Amino acid sequence: MKYDFLIVGAGLYGSIFAHEATKRGKKCLVIDKRNHIAGNIYCEKMEGINVHRYGAHIFHTSNKKIWDYVNSFVEFNRYTNCPVANYKGELFNLPFNMNTFYQLWKVKTPEEAKAKIAEQILASGIRNPQNLEEQALSLVGGDIYYKLIKEYTEKQWGRKAKDLPAFIIKRLPIRYTFDNNYFNDTYQGIPIGGYTEITNKMLEGIDVELNVDFFQERERLTGLADKIVYTGMIDEYFGYKFGTLEYRSLKFEHEVHDTQNYQGNAVVNYTDAETPYTRIIEHKHFEFGTQEKTIITKEYPQEWTKKDEPYYPVNDDMNDALFKKYKALSKAESNVIFGGRLADYKYYDMHHVVGLALKRVAEEFKEVNVFE
Ligand code: FAD
Repeated sequence: MKYDFLIVGAGLYGSIFAHEATKRGKKCLVIDKRNHIAGNIYCEKMEGINVHRYGAHIFHTSNKKIWDYVNSFVEFNRYTNCPVANYKGELFNLPFNMNTFYQLWKVKTPEEAKAKIAEQILASGIRNPQNLEEQALSLVGGDIYYKLIKEYTEKQWGRKAKDLPAFIIKRLPIRYTFDNNYFNDTYQGIPIGGYTEITNKMLEGIDVELNVDFFQERERLTGLADKIVYTGMIDEYFGYKFGTLEYRSLKFEHEVHDTQNYQGNAVVNYTDAETPYTRIIEHKHFEFGTQEKTIITKEYPQEWTKKDEPYYPVNDDMNDALFKKYKALSKAESNVIFGGRLADYKYYDMHHVVGLALKRVAEEFKEVNVFE
Protein backbone atom coordinates (compact mmCIF):
# COMPACT_ATOMS: atom_id res chain seq x y z
CA MET A 1 0.00 0.00 0.00
CA LYS A 2 1.17 3.50 -0.83
CA TYR A 3 -0.46 5.06 2.24
CA ASP A 4 -1.27 3.98 5.79
CA PHE A 5 -4.36 6.18 5.87
CA LEU A 6 -6.70 7.58 3.27
CA ILE A 7 -8.50 10.49 4.90
CA VAL A 8 -11.79 11.45 3.28
CA GLY A 9 -12.48 15.09 4.16
CA ALA A 10 -9.97 17.89 4.75
CA GLY A 11 -12.10 19.51 7.47
CA LEU A 12 -10.98 19.91 11.07
CA TYR A 13 -11.45 16.24 11.99
CA GLY A 14 -9.63 14.88 8.92
CA SER A 15 -6.82 17.44 9.19
CA ILE A 16 -6.14 16.68 12.85
CA PHE A 17 -6.12 12.95 12.22
CA ALA A 18 -3.76 13.36 9.25
CA HIS A 19 -1.43 15.66 11.22
CA GLU A 20 -1.23 13.38 14.25
CA ALA A 21 -0.82 10.19 12.22
CA THR A 22 1.96 11.82 10.17
CA LYS A 23 3.66 12.91 13.40
CA ARG A 24 3.66 9.24 14.39
CA GLY A 25 5.46 8.21 11.20
CA LYS A 26 2.41 7.20 9.12
CA LYS A 27 1.86 8.18 5.50
CA CYS A 28 -1.47 9.87 4.78
CA LEU A 29 -3.42 10.94 1.72
CA VAL A 30 -6.14 13.50 2.38
CA ILE A 31 -8.87 14.04 -0.21
CA ASP A 32 -11.76 16.47 -0.37
CA LYS A 33 -14.52 16.89 -2.90
CA ARG A 34 -14.39 20.66 -2.47
CA ASN A 35 -11.78 22.83 -4.17
CA HIS A 36 -10.23 23.83 -0.83
CA ILE A 37 -9.15 22.39 2.51
CA ALA A 38 -10.59 23.28 5.97
CA GLY A 39 -14.16 22.01 5.41
CA ASN A 40 -16.75 24.26 7.00
CA ILE A 41 -14.21 26.41 8.83
CA TYR A 42 -12.79 27.61 5.50
CA CYS A 43 -12.13 31.36 5.25
CA GLU A 44 -11.88 33.00 1.87
CA LYS A 45 -10.00 36.31 1.51
CA MET A 46 -12.16 38.98 -0.11
CA GLU A 47 -11.14 42.67 -0.13
CA GLY A 48 -8.41 41.74 2.38
CA ILE A 49 -11.02 40.38 4.81
CA ASN A 50 -11.30 36.75 5.96
CA VAL A 51 -14.84 35.75 5.01
CA HIS A 52 -16.24 32.73 6.86
CA ARG A 53 -17.60 31.03 3.73
CA TYR A 54 -19.76 28.46 5.55
CA GLY A 55 -21.12 30.62 8.37
CA ALA A 56 -19.64 32.63 11.24
CA HIS A 57 -17.24 30.60 13.40
CA ILE A 58 -16.07 31.54 16.89
CA PHE A 59 -13.77 29.13 18.68
CA HIS A 60 -14.59 28.61 22.36
CA THR A 61 -13.68 25.99 24.93
CA SER A 62 -13.10 25.53 28.63
CA ASN A 63 -10.55 22.78 28.05
CA LYS A 64 -7.10 24.35 28.39
CA LYS A 65 -5.40 21.45 26.64
CA ILE A 66 -7.61 21.85 23.57
CA TRP A 67 -7.10 25.62 23.64
CA ASP A 68 -3.30 25.15 23.82
CA TYR A 69 -3.49 22.56 21.04
CA VAL A 70 -5.21 24.90 18.53
CA ASN A 71 -2.96 27.78 19.62
CA SER A 72 0.07 25.64 18.79
CA PHE A 73 -0.87 25.99 15.09
CA VAL A 74 -1.94 29.62 15.03
CA GLU A 75 -2.30 32.51 17.44
CA PHE A 76 -5.85 33.50 18.42
CA ASN A 77 -7.11 37.05 18.96
CA ARG A 78 -9.25 38.27 21.89
CA TYR A 79 -12.57 38.39 19.97
CA THR A 80 -15.55 37.88 22.27
CA ASN A 81 -18.90 37.05 20.72
CA CYS A 82 -21.55 39.63 21.71
CA PRO A 83 -24.38 39.29 19.20
CA VAL A 84 -27.10 41.92 18.87
CA ALA A 85 -30.74 41.17 17.99
CA ASN A 86 -32.78 43.40 15.70
CA TYR A 87 -36.54 42.97 16.16
CA LYS A 88 -38.46 45.22 13.78
CA GLY A 89 -35.81 47.91 14.12
CA GLU A 90 -35.45 47.69 17.93
CA LEU A 91 -32.04 46.51 19.15
CA PHE A 92 -31.40 44.12 22.04
CA ASN A 93 -28.24 42.60 23.48
CA LEU A 94 -27.81 38.85 23.54
CA PRO A 95 -27.58 36.49 25.31
CA PHE A 96 -30.47 37.48 27.57
CA ASN A 97 -28.84 39.56 30.29
CA MET A 98 -29.34 42.73 32.34
CA ASN A 99 -28.77 44.90 29.23
CA THR A 100 -31.57 43.02 27.41
CA PHE A 101 -33.90 43.34 30.41
CA TYR A 102 -33.23 47.07 30.62
CA GLN A 103 -33.95 47.40 26.88
CA LEU A 104 -37.19 45.39 27.25
CA TRP A 105 -38.60 46.75 30.52
CA LYS A 106 -36.26 49.50 31.78
CA VAL A 107 -35.54 47.38 34.87
CA LYS A 108 -32.23 48.24 36.50
CA THR A 109 -31.57 45.62 39.15
CA PRO A 110 -31.38 41.83 39.06
CA GLU A 111 -34.24 41.70 41.62
CA GLU A 112 -36.52 43.68 39.31
CA ALA A 113 -35.57 41.57 36.30
CA LYS A 114 -36.13 38.30 38.17
CA ALA A 115 -39.54 39.48 39.33
CA LYS A 116 -40.54 40.51 35.80
CA ILE A 117 -39.52 37.15 34.30
CA ALA A 118 -41.19 35.17 37.11
CA GLU A 119 -44.40 37.16 36.57
CA GLN A 120 -44.34 36.42 32.83
CA ILE A 121 -43.63 32.71 33.32
CA LEU A 122 -46.56 32.51 35.74
CA ALA A 123 -48.82 34.36 33.29
CA SER A 124 -48.00 31.80 30.57
CA GLY A 125 -49.72 29.20 32.76
CA ILE A 126 -47.63 26.37 31.24
CA ARG A 127 -46.68 23.51 33.55
CA ASN A 128 -46.01 20.65 31.20
CA PRO A 129 -44.60 22.00 27.89
CA GLN A 130 -45.55 19.93 24.85
CA ASN A 131 -43.76 21.84 22.11
CA LEU A 132 -40.99 24.40 21.60
CA GLU A 133 -43.31 27.37 22.05
CA GLU A 134 -44.61 26.12 25.38
CA GLN A 135 -41.13 25.14 26.48
CA ALA A 136 -39.73 28.63 25.79
CA LEU A 137 -42.72 30.40 27.38
CA SER A 138 -42.33 28.28 30.49
CA LEU A 139 -38.62 29.18 30.72
CA VAL A 140 -38.53 32.92 29.94
CA GLY A 141 -42.11 34.21 29.55
CA GLY A 142 -43.85 36.07 26.72
CA ASP A 143 -41.85 39.25 26.05
CA ILE A 144 -38.50 37.55 25.49
CA TYR A 145 -40.14 34.68 23.63
CA TYR A 146 -42.22 36.74 21.19
CA LYS A 147 -39.53 39.35 20.43
CA LEU A 148 -36.35 37.31 20.48
CA ILE A 149 -37.08 33.60 20.03
CA LYS A 150 -40.30 32.69 18.24
CA GLU A 151 -39.93 34.11 14.72
CA TYR A 152 -36.16 33.57 14.58
CA THR A 153 -36.60 29.90 15.47
CA GLU A 154 -39.45 29.50 12.97
CA LYS A 155 -37.25 30.92 10.21
CA GLN A 156 -34.38 28.68 11.27
CA TRP A 157 -36.41 25.45 11.20
CA GLY A 158 -38.98 26.40 8.54
CA ARG A 159 -41.76 25.28 10.86
CA LYS A 160 -44.09 26.84 13.42
CA ALA A 161 -42.73 26.80 16.97
CA LYS A 162 -45.86 24.93 18.05
CA ASP A 163 -44.95 22.14 15.61
CA LEU A 164 -41.36 21.86 16.83
CA PRO A 165 -40.42 19.48 19.64
CA ALA A 166 -39.69 20.95 23.07
CA PHE A 167 -36.27 19.24 23.22
CA ILE A 168 -34.74 21.73 20.73
CA ILE A 169 -34.62 24.23 23.60
CA LYS A 170 -33.40 22.38 26.67
CA ARG A 171 -32.56 25.50 28.57
CA LEU A 172 -32.37 29.19 27.81
CA PRO A 173 -29.44 30.87 29.48
CA ILE A 174 -30.49 33.96 31.43
CA ARG A 175 -27.83 36.12 33.03
CA TYR A 176 -28.53 38.62 35.78
CA THR A 177 -25.34 40.57 35.07
CA PHE A 178 -24.56 43.21 32.44
CA ASP A 179 -22.51 40.71 30.44
CA ASN A 180 -23.01 40.41 26.67
CA ASN A 181 -20.45 37.62 26.21
CA TYR A 182 -22.42 34.89 24.41
CA PHE A 183 -20.28 32.00 25.63
CA ASN A 184 -19.57 30.91 29.18
CA ASP A 185 -16.30 29.21 28.22
CA THR A 186 -12.94 30.19 29.67
CA TYR A 187 -11.24 30.60 26.28
CA GLN A 188 -12.55 32.20 23.12
CA GLY A 189 -11.18 33.86 19.98
CA ILE A 190 -10.61 33.87 16.25
CA PRO A 191 -7.37 32.61 14.65
CA ILE A 192 -5.31 35.57 13.48
CA GLY A 193 -5.25 35.29 9.69
CA GLY A 194 -8.40 33.14 9.56
CA TYR A 195 -9.30 29.51 10.21
CA THR A 196 -7.83 28.10 7.00
CA GLU A 197 -4.38 28.82 8.50
CA ILE A 198 -5.00 26.11 11.13
CA THR A 199 -5.60 23.37 8.57
CA ASN A 200 -2.83 24.75 6.33
CA LYS A 201 -0.41 24.17 9.20
CA MET A 202 -1.86 20.78 10.09
CA LEU A 203 -1.59 19.51 6.52
CA GLU A 204 1.94 20.82 5.87
CA GLY A 205 3.98 18.13 4.07
CA ILE A 206 0.95 15.82 3.67
CA ASP A 207 -0.42 14.70 0.28
CA VAL A 208 -3.75 16.42 -0.40
CA GLU A 209 -6.00 15.93 -3.45
CA LEU A 210 -8.83 18.42 -3.92
CA ASN A 211 -11.93 18.14 -6.15
CA VAL A 212 -11.92 14.39 -5.49
CA ASP A 213 -15.18 12.77 -4.46
CA PHE A 214 -14.58 9.49 -2.67
CA PHE A 215 -17.65 7.91 -4.26
CA GLN A 216 -16.55 8.78 -7.81
CA GLU A 217 -13.27 6.91 -7.39
CA ARG A 218 -13.96 4.56 -4.52
CA GLU A 219 -12.10 1.57 -5.92
CA ARG A 220 -8.91 3.42 -6.82
CA LEU A 221 -8.81 5.31 -3.54
CA THR A 222 -9.60 2.33 -1.33
CA GLY A 223 -6.75 0.47 -3.02
CA LEU A 224 -4.27 3.15 -1.99
CA ALA A 225 -4.33 2.79 1.79
CA ASP A 226 -4.52 0.24 4.59
CA LYS A 227 -7.15 2.18 6.47
CA ILE A 228 -9.73 4.86 5.75
CA VAL A 229 -10.72 7.76 7.97
CA TYR A 230 -14.14 8.79 6.68
CA THR A 231 -15.59 12.18 7.65
CA GLY A 232 -18.40 12.43 5.06
CA MET A 233 -22.10 11.62 5.46
CA ILE A 234 -22.63 8.20 6.99
CA ASP A 235 -25.78 7.40 4.98
CA GLU A 236 -23.98 8.21 1.73
CA TYR A 237 -21.16 5.80 2.66
CA PHE A 238 -23.73 2.99 2.79
CA GLY A 239 -25.50 4.08 -0.42
CA TYR A 240 -28.51 5.43 1.57
CA LYS A 241 -29.67 1.81 1.85
CA PHE A 242 -31.96 2.46 4.83
CA GLY A 243 -33.01 5.95 3.71
CA THR A 244 -31.68 9.51 3.80
CA LEU A 245 -30.81 11.39 6.98
CA GLU A 246 -32.33 14.87 7.02
CA TYR A 247 -30.52 18.20 7.48
CA ARG A 248 -31.32 21.90 7.43
CA SER A 249 -29.30 23.93 4.99
CA LEU A 250 -28.30 27.58 4.64
CA LYS A 251 -27.84 29.93 1.74
CA PHE A 252 -25.21 32.68 2.13
CA GLU A 253 -25.37 35.95 0.21
CA HIS A 254 -22.13 37.91 0.39
CA GLU A 255 -22.15 41.66 -0.34
CA VAL A 256 -19.25 44.10 -0.63
CA HIS A 257 -20.03 47.55 0.76
CA ASP A 258 -18.07 50.68 0.14
CA THR A 259 -18.06 51.66 3.79
CA GLN A 260 -15.69 50.94 6.66
CA ASN A 261 -18.33 49.83 9.11
CA TYR A 262 -21.77 48.53 8.09
CA GLN A 263 -23.41 47.41 11.33
CA GLY A 264 -20.87 47.97 14.12
CA ASN A 265 -20.84 44.33 15.20
CA ALA A 266 -19.81 40.97 13.72
CA VAL A 267 -23.18 39.29 14.34
CA VAL A 268 -26.66 40.83 14.18
CA ASN A 269 -29.62 38.44 14.42
CA TYR A 270 -32.90 39.43 12.78
CA THR A 271 -35.56 37.99 15.06
CA ASP A 272 -38.69 39.13 13.19
CA ALA A 273 -40.59 37.08 10.59
CA GLU A 274 -40.61 39.82 7.91
CA THR A 275 -36.82 39.80 7.37
CA PRO A 276 -36.12 36.67 5.29
CA TYR A 277 -32.61 36.08 6.64
CA THR A 278 -31.73 35.14 10.23
CA ARG A 279 -28.41 36.96 10.56
CA ILE A 280 -26.07 39.45 8.99
CA ILE A 281 -22.40 38.77 9.60
CA GLU A 282 -19.87 41.57 9.12
CA HIS A 283 -16.66 39.56 8.90
CA LYS A 284 -14.05 42.28 9.49
CA HIS A 285 -15.20 42.70 13.11
CA PHE A 286 -14.01 39.17 13.95
CA GLU A 287 -10.47 40.46 13.44
CA PHE A 288 -10.94 44.17 14.29
CA GLY A 289 -10.36 44.98 10.62
CA THR A 290 -9.67 48.50 9.44
CA GLN A 291 -10.00 47.91 5.67
CA GLU A 292 -11.62 50.61 3.49
CA LYS A 293 -14.48 48.31 2.44
CA THR A 294 -16.54 45.75 4.29
CA ILE A 295 -18.08 42.38 3.48
CA ILE A 296 -21.40 41.33 4.93
CA THR A 297 -23.15 37.97 4.62
CA LYS A 298 -26.88 37.43 4.88
CA GLU A 299 -27.75 33.96 6.13
CA TYR A 300 -30.98 32.36 4.81
CA PRO A 301 -32.11 29.06 6.34
CA GLN A 302 -33.31 26.50 3.80
CA GLU A 303 -34.73 23.05 3.36
CA TRP A 304 -31.95 20.61 2.52
CA THR A 305 -31.82 18.44 -0.61
CA LYS A 306 -28.93 16.24 -1.75
CA LYS A 307 -27.72 19.14 -3.94
CA ASP A 308 -27.27 21.45 -0.92
CA GLU A 309 -24.68 21.65 1.84
CA PRO A 310 -25.82 19.67 4.89
CA TYR A 311 -25.44 22.06 7.84
CA TYR A 312 -27.64 21.12 10.77
CA PRO A 313 -28.70 17.51 11.40
CA VAL A 314 -32.38 17.15 12.28
CA ASN A 315 -31.94 15.00 15.38
CA ASP A 316 -35.57 13.98 15.87
CA ASP A 317 -36.65 10.45 16.80
CA MET A 318 -37.05 9.33 13.19
CA ASN A 319 -33.61 10.49 12.04
CA ASP A 320 -31.87 9.31 15.20
CA ALA A 321 -33.37 5.83 14.72
CA LEU A 322 -32.15 5.81 11.12
CA PHE A 323 -28.69 6.96 12.21
CA LYS A 324 -28.49 4.07 14.70
CA LYS A 325 -28.96 1.60 11.85
CA TYR A 326 -26.08 3.14 9.90
CA LYS A 327 -23.97 3.33 13.04
CA ALA A 328 -24.46 -0.42 13.57
CA LEU A 329 -23.26 -1.08 10.00
CA SER A 330 -20.25 1.18 10.48
CA LYS A 331 -19.05 -0.92 13.41
CA ALA A 332 -18.61 -3.87 11.07
CA GLU A 333 -16.30 -1.91 8.74
CA SER A 334 -13.06 -2.93 10.41
CA ASN A 335 -10.75 -0.85 8.22
CA VAL A 336 -12.71 2.37 8.38
CA ILE A 337 -12.70 4.99 11.12
CA PHE A 338 -15.87 7.13 11.01
CA GLY A 339 -15.59 10.57 12.59
CA GLY A 340 -16.59 14.23 12.47
CA ARG A 341 -19.98 15.89 12.31
CA LEU A 342 -21.28 14.17 9.14
CA ALA A 343 -20.28 10.62 10.02
CA ASP A 344 -21.62 11.03 13.57
CA TYR A 345 -24.76 12.88 12.34
CA LYS A 346 -24.38 15.37 15.14
CA TYR A 347 -23.95 19.10 15.54
CA TYR A 348 -20.49 19.61 17.02
CA ASP A 349 -18.73 22.83 17.89
CA MET A 350 -15.11 22.98 16.80
CA HIS A 351 -13.72 22.19 20.25
CA HIS A 352 -15.82 18.99 20.29
CA VAL A 353 -14.35 17.97 16.93
CA VAL A 354 -10.80 18.67 18.13
CA GLY A 355 -11.41 16.61 21.28
CA LEU A 356 -12.99 13.72 19.40
CA ALA A 357 -10.30 13.58 16.71
CA LEU A 358 -7.53 13.56 19.32
CA LYS A 359 -9.33 10.88 21.31
CA ARG A 360 -9.64 8.71 18.19
CA VAL A 361 -5.93 9.21 17.43
CA ALA A 362 -5.05 8.06 20.96
CA GLU A 363 -7.23 4.95 20.51
CA GLU A 364 -5.75 4.16 17.11
CA PHE A 365 -2.18 4.42 18.38
CA LYS A 366 -2.96 2.75 21.71
CA GLU A 367 -1.95 5.79 23.72
CA VAL A 368 -3.42 7.53 26.73
CA ASN A 369 -5.59 10.44 25.63
CA VAL A 370 -3.97 13.44 27.31
CA PHE A 371 -6.58 15.91 26.05
CA GLU A 372 -9.51 14.90 28.25
P1 FAD B 1 -16.48 19.37 7.88
O1 FAD B 1 -15.81 20.66 8.14
O2 FAD B 1 -17.82 19.39 7.25
O3 FAD B 1 -15.48 18.50 6.98
C1 FAD B 1 -15.89 17.37 6.25
C2 FAD B 1 -15.23 17.44 4.88
O4 FAD B 1 -15.48 16.21 4.20
C3 FAD B 1 -15.80 18.55 4.00
O5 FAD B 1 -14.76 19.40 3.57
C4 FAD B 1 -16.42 17.79 2.83
O6 FAD B 1 -16.29 18.46 1.58
C5 FAD B 1 -15.64 16.49 2.83
N1 FAD B 1 -16.36 15.39 2.20
C6 FAD B 1 -17.60 14.94 2.53
N2 FAD B 1 -17.93 13.92 1.71
C7 FAD B 1 -16.88 13.70 0.90
C8 FAD B 1 -16.64 12.81 -0.18
N3 FAD B 1 -17.56 11.92 -0.56
N4 FAD B 1 -15.45 12.87 -0.82
C9 FAD B 1 -14.51 13.78 -0.47
N5 FAD B 1 -14.70 14.67 0.53
C10 FAD B 1 -15.87 14.63 1.21
N6 FAD B 1 -18.39 25.63 15.78
C11 FAD B 1 -17.86 26.41 16.74
O7 FAD B 1 -17.10 25.93 17.58
N7 FAD B 1 -18.14 27.75 16.80
C12 FAD B 1 -18.97 28.36 15.90
O8 FAD B 1 -19.20 29.56 15.99
C13 FAD B 1 -19.55 27.56 14.88
N8 FAD B 1 -20.38 28.10 13.98
C14 FAD B 1 -20.96 27.31 13.03
C15 FAD B 1 -21.84 27.90 12.12
C16 FAD B 1 -22.46 27.12 11.16
C17 FAD B 1 -23.40 27.76 10.19
C18 FAD B 1 -22.23 25.73 11.12
C19 FAD B 1 -22.95 24.85 10.14
C20 FAD B 1 -21.35 25.14 12.01
C21 FAD B 1 -20.70 25.92 12.97
N9 FAD B 1 -19.77 25.37 13.85
C22 FAD B 1 -19.23 26.16 14.84
C23 FAD B 1 -19.40 23.94 13.79
C24 FAD B 1 -18.13 23.65 12.93
O9 FAD B 1 -18.35 24.07 11.62
C25 FAD B 1 -17.84 22.14 12.96
O10 FAD B 1 -17.65 21.70 14.28
C26 FAD B 1 -16.61 21.68 12.14
O11 FAD B 1 -16.42 22.42 10.99
C27 FAD B 1 -16.77 20.23 11.80
O12 FAD B 1 -15.58 19.70 11.21
P2 FAD B 1 -15.63 18.29 10.46
O13 FAD B 1 -14.26 18.00 10.02
O14 FAD B 1 -16.34 17.31 11.31
O15 FAD B 1 -16.62 18.51 9.23
